Amino acid sequence: MIPAPFDYERAESVEHALSLLAEREDAKLLAGGHSLLPLLRLRAVRPSLLVDVGRIEGLAYVRDAGAAIAIGALTRHHDLARSPLLQEHNPLVSRAAGLVGDPQVRHRGTIGGSLAHGDPASDLPAVLLALDGEVDVAGPDGVRTVAARDFFLGPFQTAVGQREMVTEVRVPKLTGDHVWSYLKFRRRAQDWATVGVAALARRSDGGVAEPAIALVNMGATPLRAVAAEAAWAAGEDPGALAAEGTEPPSDTNGSAEYRRHLAQVLVRRAVAEAAAR
Ligand SMILES: Cc1cc2nc3c(=O)[nH]c(=O)nc-3n(C[C@H](O)[C@H](O)[C@H](O)COP(=O)(O)OP(=O)(O)OC[C@H]3O[C@@H](n4cnc5c(N)ncnc54)[C@H](O)[C@@H]3O)c2cc1C
Repeated sequence: MIPAPFDYERAESVEHALSLLAEREDAKLLAGGHSLLPLLRLRAVRPSLLVDVGRIEGLAYVRDAGAAIAIGALTRHHDLARSPLLQEHNPLVSRAAGLVGDPQVRHRGTIGGSLAHGDPASDLPAVLLALDGEVDVAGPDGVRTVAARDFFLGPFQTAVGQREMVTEVRVPKLTGDHVWSYLKFRRRAQDWATVGVAALARRSDGGVAEPAIALVNMGATPLRAVAAEAAWAAGEDPGALAAEGTEPPSDTNGSAEYRRHLAQVLVRRAVAEAAAR
């Protein structure tokens, strides 16, 4: 279908983008366009103004920020996957980014767009949740920092307001003690996850400490599998409890029951892969 008519403005800076957003209540930011354009074509959204932030300078970067790695909102999935800094300090992010869609999607889609879009089937939101990362959101009153656990509010709903823009994402540096895995089950290589699992923990006294397991497409938002995390820390089978507290969707890729089973299998595999690192 052809999108409904809209005006188009190219923002030169974050401040310019925010001032354009403030002009119309239904204005929308456009970054890589790989989630927004399909919605426009389906007429599922009909903004009267698109504010193109895709060419704002200085917002595509991966930087060493001390204990964290800072990632600019316009950084493409491809660049996350290839970043030497992430490969060294947080390979979980580069691994998951390298599994997003196909090469075309990875060359256009941005981390800011992926997080702000709030699709529970997306890969990077669950990774951010497992890592306890944080997101800087610029708005009319300045920049605020939102923790990953407070960021995802519902399907396609996040803590980013209509007049706000994600500017930076920070993830912790992992150490040599960390073990991790990202696994994604999908029917075809370029598909969204039917179910995905991010697993992370620190080696400790022959077991693990601070376990984090986040699930993709097992509810309205990315979810932490809290019961499975506790089982992992206790040296028990985390897979058995992987689907506890989840409400997976049923769709053409699988029923809710199938997804619950997949979550159990993938969590077991992810924990085994992590332990083998
Ligand atoms: C064929 C296909 C396959 C895909 N497969 C996967 C997959 O396997 N895994 C996966 O995770 N994703 C997948 N995607 C989605 C892809 O990763 C998108 O690029 C991403 O979700 C959105 O990023 P974007 O930069 O394209 O955002 P856009 O499409 O430009 O924007 C998406 C939404 O975010 C808002 N937005 C964008 N940037 C910002 C910002 N900085 N601050 C605030 N709001 C902002 C926009 O207003 C819009 O509402 C796929 C997409 C396609 C088309």
